Amino acid sequence: MNIGVLALQGAVSEHISCLKGAMEKLGIAENISLVREKEELGGLDGLIIPGGESTTHSLLLEKEGMVEGLGKIPKIFGTCAGAILISREIIGQANGQKSLGLIDMAISRNGYGRQLDSFQSPIESSLGKLDGVFIRAPVIERVGEKVEVLAEHRGKPVAVQQGKHVATTFHPELSGSTAFHEHFLRIDR
Ligand code: GLN
Repeated sequence: MNIGVLALQGAVSEHISCLKGAMEKLGIAENISLVREKEELGGLDGLIIPGGESTTHSLLLEKEGMVEGLGKIPKIFGTCAGAILISREIIGQANGQKSLGLIDMAISRNGYGRQLDSFQSPIESSLGKLDGVFIRAPVIERVGEKVEVLAEHRGKPVAVQQGKHVATTFHPELSGSTAFHEHFLRIDR
């Protein structure tokens, strides 16, 4: 299998070490590639879209002509800004910002507000307990009925899955746990 990490912007190297750790735990060896151009989207079985700034991601994806190719990837794991990019509806959407609509949810950018710009909190997920690191995180305000909630925090979903696509509003690559990366690797294997 070929797993890509979108490397236009954001927390890329942490995802790569987490992916490597997850593969070690699962006893599998997949190919990991950094994705910066649309040609590199072809042949991917899965892609991680890291955190960063969703508006910048959006502009760069348009500029590189990558939006269409992204829609064809069998499974995508979006974290924080990546979760915003794969949602159906962005609340507080910046001018011209696009979303891929892969997960039927409405997500509010910077939804935890200034006071809670960044915080850490234990999360109980269906994949076990982990330390949730939230950095200017979005809030998932609504999910459609086809969306499975994998974890909640203060009554709001913070990890969701629809079909093969997964999104977390926290940064699992900073949590000290590889559970979400293992889960993503196992989908459709
Ligand atoms: N607030 C950022 C955005 O709107 C996301 C922050 C993050 O990815 N850590 O894109």
